[in-house]
Amino acid sequence: METATTYDVAIVGGGLAGLSLSIQLKRQGYSVILFEKEQYPFHKICGEYISLESWDFLNDLGVDLDSMKVPIITKLQVSSVSGKMLEHSLPLGGFGISRYRLDNTLVQIAKTQGVDILENTKVNDVTFSGDEFSIHTSLKKYQSKLVAGSYGKRSNIDIKWKRSFISAAKNKLNNYIGVKYHVKSAFPVDTIALHNFKNGYCGIVKIEDDNYNICYMTTASNLQKSNGNIKQMEAMILSQNPHLKKIFTESNVTLVTPLTISQISFDKKSQVENHVLMVGDAAGMITPLCGNGMSMALHGSKIAATLMQNFLKHTITRDEMEKQYSRQWSNVFAHRLVMGRRIQRLFGRNWLTNLFITIAKPFPGFVSYLVRQTHGNPF
Ligand SMILES: Cc1cc2nc3c(=O)[nH]c(=O)nc-3n(C[C@H](O)[C@H](O)[C@H](O)COP(=O)(O)OP(=O)(O)OC[C@H]3O[C@@H](n4cnc5c(N)ncnc54)[C@H](O)[C@@H]3O)c2cc1C
Repeated sequence: METATTYDVAIVGGGLAGLSLSIQLKRQGYSVILFEKEQYPFHKICGEYISLESWDFLNDLGVDLDSMKVPIITKLQVSSVSGKMLEHSLPLGGFGISRYRLDNTLVQIAKTQGVDILENTKVNDVTFSGDEFSIHTSLKKYQSKLVAGSYGKRSNIDIKWKRSFISAAKNKLNNYIGVKYHVKSAFPVDTIALHNFKNGYCGIVKIEDDNYNICYMTTASNLQKSNGNIKQMEAMILSQNPHLKKIFTESNVTLVTPLTISQISFDKKSQVENHVLMVGDAAGMITPLCGNGMSMALHGSKIAATLMQNFLKHTITRDEMEKQYSRQWSNVFAHRLVMGRRIQRLFGRNWLTNLFITIAKPFPGFVSYLVRQTHGNPF
């Protein structure tokens, strides 16, 4: 069945990129529909540490971070596979908040402003013909002048469109799994820790309600070696790092089932595909150790919103909008992605992480430099 309305903008995927884009465009008076395959509120795999570069932007969208009393994070700990520790103050810092809370706050703002939000609605395809898009779901087909693809790191649409990173051979940068818990812990409230273990790293940071997020990423092969058993992998591999052993033995899990995802890819992606502007992880994913993916998703939505408005006001053509978007996206984010991939290669190996910490410890300026290379400025 086809709907009669043609929306100005259709947004596929309601994570941080899609929700923030919908709010910005609706505020400017455009008709916006957003499709999300899940039902809010829901948990996501994420380290849940957001760089302070997003603070003003989130407040401006209507997320009252001050009254939420989010924990402010000013210190970083990094440990090697064998447990050698480096402590450092963060140049800009960040805050901790669960995705359950943040995404749900944004969806409530979007709904109040009048964005049409379709939950439990998976988009199967997007087609472009006669200067208009059709968005195909199982029940209905919707029409729009513009589409944003904000459906995250890997989706059914990527497979349907045979995007190049989907067919890339499995390598060290595209075959990871992620696991997340919420726990009660005695960990410091102002610190984020990144503990290395063989072929992976694990973060811990305070979020809301006296909970802490524990989130780790490792190779799919590490899980295979542990007979596909997460608990076995944590006991045999992660706990070889004494800091992780302490965290896993002393924390009380409050989010009972660890959430897991697989086939995480950090390969290069295109920012425009079939005339759809890709935003957030769908445009390119930074390695999680940088703690910058959420800010990139939010900042990317700001770039897309401005150019989409210019197109809808007829001040630029579709072709100009697409070219300017790719160019601006690369100018702002490409360097961070490259640095993130380079740093990720250092992590998860015993001798390399020990060497890194030995060299970096006496040079705090070098650590600040590395952190700044993977982050941006307030936007
Ligand atoms: C292990 C791990 C740890 C991380 N830790 C951090 C961290 O500490 N700090 C940080 O800043 N970043 C972190 N990140 C990165 C961060 O989570 C992402 O960069 C961010 O979530 C990207 O937001 P997004 O809106 O692009 O995608 P998402 O938040 O993934 O949203 C995409 C949405 O699209 C929906 N969707 C997908 N397909 C369809 C479809 N066909 N139809 C309808 N809906 C669809 C999904 O259900 C989802 O809700 C981490 C990532 C991983 C994997």
